[in-house]
Amino acid sequence: MKFFIDELRTMLGSAPQKWSKDDHSQAARDIHTFKQTPEQRKLRIASIHEELGNKVKNYRWRIQRWASIIIVNMIFVLSYWFDVQLVEGALTASRFVGFHLADLNSALQVVLAYKVILINLVIGVVTVLLIWWFVGGRSFCSWVCPYHLLAEIAEMLHIKLVDKGIVKDHPMRRSTRTVMWVVFAALAFITGYTVFETVNPVGILSRSLIYGAGFGLVLVAVLLLIEIFYSRRFWCRYICPIGLTYGFVGSISPVVIRYDLNHCLHEGECRNVCMVPHVLEMTKKNRAHDEIIDIGADCTRCAMCLEVCPTGALNFKIRGTGDLI
Ligand code: SF4
Ligand code: SF4
Repeated sequence: MKFFIDELRTMLGSAPQKWSKDDHSQAARDIHTFKQTPEQRKLRIASIHEELGNKVKNYRWRIQRWASIIIVNMIFVLSYWFDVQLVEGALTASRFVGFHLADLNSALQVVLAYKVILINLVIGVVTVLLIWWFVGGRSFCSWVCPYHLLAEIAEMLHIKLVDKGIVKDHPMRRSTRTVMWVVFAALAFITGYTVFETVNPVGILSRSLIYGAGFGLVLVAVLLLIEIFYSRRFWCRYICPIGLTYGFVGSISPVVIRYDLNHCLHEGECRNVCMVPHVLEMTKKNRAHDEIIDIGADCTRCAMCLEVCPTGALNFKIRGTGDLI
């Protein structure tokens, strides 16, 4: 339970807990000790050199995720354009073959702003909640959110510019996102208006794709420029309340990314590619409190860590079962 609470605290912005040896399981202690023997250290360092020397790019998961984002968003667009009424509405609130779906954060904003709970909204929320509960709450970010796709491209440019020394990354306090979640909720309650929706790039992009470009795209462009030239993944890491809301749902999801201490080289390639590297704290040397650990609530299930891990220490799993994929 204390590890679960720490996951939630970390998601809200606290630094990940550094567990003492007393908190480590016997299996974890044995593996940490084993990895420190001179022979194993040599082997591990040789493996890291080999890995870094033979980096093979693997984009399997990225291709699948991008395809998923494009397909989901195109279903909305084509449904509207050809008036087939398969899906009506946008990502924030829609009907799928007549069945209501509502983005959890948008629904919360509506309830706070208008102080009513509509039955259609409840149906939409429960349906979406069940879907994302099963596949892992923040999977919405990596597999559906149209802003994620653009932000991922912006992130690649940002990393290239940082590598060339042209720009510097400006990390911020992760707790800013929690503060913004409260601010947007309070604004909806006080003003009686869903203020967040006017600045939400997810809704702006979804509506622009379906109904045509609007002025909100200027804001999306500004956000992307900030992410390219100033702060890596600025919106998703430090502002977006949607990611935080889905993070809570994902904290109890059956589908998780699972870490296996036995296979880990601790070279940190996974943390370099991860949008939320605080969830991979256990991949640092001597940090894992157990042999097998499910990655924390803030994980978006983007699988970029799986793509770069040369030893298969990270994998998709269903809690309580073996390999999923
Ligand atoms: S954090 Fe927000 S904008 Fe970023 S991917 Fe998730 S839902 Fe989209
Ligand atoms: S831990 Fe892996 S799957 Fe989760 S967000 Fe980070 S890179 Fe993506």
